[in-house]
Amino acid sequence: MRVSWICLDIMDLPMLAIHARRARLPEGWATDVRVTLDGLRIALVTPGVAPDPGDLCIDTLLPALSNLHSHSFQRALAGRTERRAAGGESFWTWRETMYAFVARLTPEQVEAIAALTFCEMQEAGFAAVGEFHYLHHAPGGAAYDRPAELSHPLFAAAAETGIGLTHLPVLYRYGGAGRQPLAEGQRRFGCDPGRFAALLEDARAGARGLPDDTVVGIAPHSLRAVTPEDLDAILPLAEGGPVHMHVAEQPREVAEVQAWLGARPVEWLLGNAPVDGRWCAIHATHMTPGETAALARSGAVAGLCPITEANLGDGPFGGPAWLAAGGAFGVGSDSNVRIAMGEELRTLEYSQRLRDLARNVLAPEDGHTGAALYLAAAAGGARALGRDAGAIAPARVADLLAVDGDHPALAGLSGDAVLDGLVFAAGEGVVTDLWSAGRHSVREGRHVARDAIRARYCTAIAALTA
Ligand code: ZN
Repeated sequence: MRVSWICLDIMDLPMLAIHARRARLPEGWATDVRVTLDGLRIALVTPGVAPDPGDLCIDTLLPALSNLHSHSFQRALAGRTERRAAGGESFWTWRETMYAFVARLTPEQVEAIAALTFCEMQEAGFAAVGEFHYLHHAPGGAAYDRPAELSHPLFAAAAETGIGLTHLPVLYRYGGAGRQPLAEGQRRFGCDPGRFAALLEDARAGARGLPDDTVVGIAPHSLRAVTPEDLDAILPLAEGGPVHMHVAEQPREVAEVQAWLGARPVEWLLGNAPVDGRWCAIHATHMTPGETAALARSGAVAGLCPITEANLGDGPFGGPAWLAAGGAFGVGSDSNVRIAMGEELRTLEYSQRLRDLARNVLAPEDGHTGAALYLAAAAGGARALGRDAGAIAPARVADLLAVDGDHPALAGLSGDAVLDGLVFAAGEGVVTDLWSAGRHSVREGRHVARDAIRARYCTAIAALTA
């Protein structure tokens, strides 16, 4: 029995109040802001006061972002898929490489990779993660003794790093649209709805050992991997929690679903599934104008993964039409080829500029683009994860980010231009502190458990690549 994951001292340390030189509150910027916490939530927000003795004084305080879509194990593939093979490369050839890699992973390696991934996310400014978890079974697809055996390494990594976890066990039943059998490389993912229900129940039981901000939702993988009947069977299991699904990432996927169901993936879901504000549509790249407007109006959050979508050659998101229809969005690091919060947001904006031959595409009239992206992603990402965070206000979950206002990328900036600097000019090194539901995991720019986590990751990679 594994018991090692009640560990990190970040769970136990006495919480000091935070005093920020300036903070981005929902109503705008304020100076000399004192924020006190009550457990995992914000208790009081008081602008215009001096620090009390013992307050932790920081420079610029922001609501931290939630990273709404991750497959943490894929972090270990970063840099290993950038060589062009004969015949050309695509999303689909990348996926074959990923399957070959997955075939060898052990639970211990899954945990070591997840811990590094979560640690890097927190150092990048993400307080929480939505882990879209489809690696369920032993090599070859055989059952582990515990149905959710491979959820437990993720719980351990979340406990060790202190990141806020929304765990999203995935139903992955078929190898392609129209009930194609699973390929060899997909056997570790495969469940029917009955096996999935047992797995979800076991995952929920395991997650009860984590802090109270932990959420368990469900993720029907995509209309490539589940049927309409499967969707009907598992949606009640969400019990009001988040529902995440990959949709319309690639044109081939859209064509295959259309040939099978007579409708494009988003069109089909809107006509046949109870899509609402609990849903997060991951990618939603290839939509018609009608699909874009209707999905935005449904309340579903668009789960955008701009760095991965660029890396895999997915295509640019239809941002202007989505925003015009009032759509919410957040960002996720998906394949984790790079874990960089500002870079996700600027890659999103740059994909729009390159397509539209325009600048400041995703900003409102007279608005700051960096601020518009950041604040929308803070709110949308938290909502997608079922997390009452995304703003610095009393009673909200204390997902907070402190950045260094004296960093050259931010020097001399004030008001929402600070967020423009953060998104477009800053790189690593601008983050000083991060709290995930009050857990103070990053201090002076370093995750408190970074050294041990990196060492374990390197050992796991050496074994994997030996
Ligand atoms: Zn994904």
